[in-house]
Amino acid sequence: MRVAIVGGGITGLAAAHRLLELAPSVEVELFEATSRVGGVLQTDQVAGCLVERSADMFTTKEPAAKDLCHRLGLGTALIGTRQEYQRAFIAQANRLVPIPEGLNLMSPSNLESIRSTPLLSVAGKKRFLEEVDVPPRENLGDESLRSFAVRRFGLEAYEKIFQPLVGGIYTADPKKLSLQATLPQYLEMEARFGSVIGALQAKARQSGECGAVPGRPGTKVTSGARYNLFVAPADGLQTLIQTLADRIVNTKVHFESPIQRLEPLDSGWKITTKNQETHFDGVLIAVPGHVAGHLLSGVNGRLGELLNGIECASSAIVVQGWMRQQIQHALDGFGFVVPLTENRTILAGSFSSVKFPGRSPTDQVLIRSFVGGACQGHLLAATDQELGRRVREDLFDLLGAKGRPRFETVIRWNESMPQYHVGHEERIDEIGQAISELPHLEIAGKSYTGVGIPACVQSGENAGGKLIRDLGVS
Ligand SMILES: Cc1cc2nc3c(=O)[nH]c(=O)nc-3n(C[C@H](O)[C@H](O)[C@H](O)COP(=O)(O)OP(=O)(O)OC[C@H]3O[C@@H](n4cnc5c(N)ncnc54)[C@H](O)[C@@H]3O)c2cc1C
Repeated sequence: MRVAIVGGGITGLAAAHRLLELAPSVEVELFEATSRVGGVLQTDQVAGCLVERSADMFTTKEPAAKDLCHRLGLGTALIGTRQEYQRAFIAQANRLVPIPEGLNLMSPSNLESIRSTPLLSVAGKKRFLEEVDVPPRENLGDESLRSFAVRRFGLEAYEKIFQPLVGGIYTADPKKLSLQATLPQYLEMEARFGSVIGALQAKARQSGECGAVPGRPGTKVTSGARYNLFVAPADGLQTLIQTLADRIVNTKVHFESPIQRLEPLDSGWKITTKNQETHFDGVLIAVPGHVAGHLLSGVNGRLGELLNGIECASSAIVVQGWMRQQIQHALDGFGFVVPLTENRTILAGSFSSVKFPGRSPTDQVLIRSFVGGACQGHLLAATDQELGRRVREDLFDLLGAKGRPRFETVIRWNESMPQYHVGHEERIDEIGQAISELPHLEIAGKSYTGVGIPACVQSGENAGGKLIRDLGVS
């Protein structure tokens, strides 16, 4: 039995690994467009610093990536974020203000910290706290993040807090971002408890945490973002990619072999690259949605259209290595996000060498600044030098950075971050239905059921398992 995997990012590699775990007798061939596997995941060594070119960690909340690391023998290579600095900031004017304690995205588990935050005006705080009294929406369908946040917490809380927090994660336009596909728990909280604050209060009462009703005296402060769930291999994510590549050693990997066509045969599929046509019993497509759309539009026009409709945003990361004494800020957190209303170049900044140990020499600091995304794509027209200069200007204001960094690298990611727009789940259901009608074909990756590394691993492994079952091998 012969199976082709199209795309050698983490999704394609996890799928190949799963196929071989489940059915070692299957012959797997992987076709990758570039000269290396890993997709967006790449780690570089630059001037004594460990530089992640895209993702720098993953969450263990969804277990697939952590479990895969354990099966690969990498469990002990995973390190957590530094305990003493587990917080982040929001930029406001020329300063960084801590994210209110206990606030995890749109879940405020400590209302005192909302009352005391300098991020909101008196009127903004009052409106935020009135969320508990805002009647729930009658229509229970999907909604954009902006619509939900403004409706429930008010425009000021959206602009000053929720837009930068969520925008920083998905590099998305919150006016289009589907809550159902990204943060469905909020729709559920509203539907079940009438409000987000009401849901958190009910949960606190249930768990009986020393009378922990948020905002009431005696409330126990819970942590905000779940920083203790974030991990990364000590030597960078390249370790995961390299270990996977080594483990699937019997898989024939075709580098610089972009697939140009896919055609169904009476039994199996024909795959066409620039140099060859090959027949396979089954195919697993692990490329971004729009690439899959291009490959499948000749097979099923509607399917191609649905896949092509999953847009991707572009971004750049300006990586800078600074001497510690060049930065005035205490860097007592993992980084910061910037509201669009601040009109800055930086969308979010990550203090990489504070987050994880061993990312820079101890007298230096590694900072990764994100630029662009769905709302500020126009900034990416600037040259690398210009982007670097604008980022330095922002860091002069926000961190009191002085002089020039020891090194500066601009990494561009064109059309690399899928955008889950309102209606994404229905689109994915229809894609799933159309794929299920094509025999011995599976599709997986960042464009469908989650952009994070764990979701990609899970989706690759699920698709691999399903293909094995459909082909009737074990
Ligand atoms: C800047 C950035 C920061 C991120 N930060 C985090 C983070 O901190 N934590 C986290 O969990 N996630 C993060 N993510 C998301 C996560 O890293 C990605 O969603 C995930 O790695 C995508 O994996 P993939 O294999 O689905 O896609 P990709 O990595 O895009 O891989 C697809 C592969 O398919 C190949 N390909 C394309 N066309 C063809 C073709 N025609 N034929 C053959 N091969 C083809 C490509 O060359 C590529 O190798 C980040 C993403 C970006 C861009």
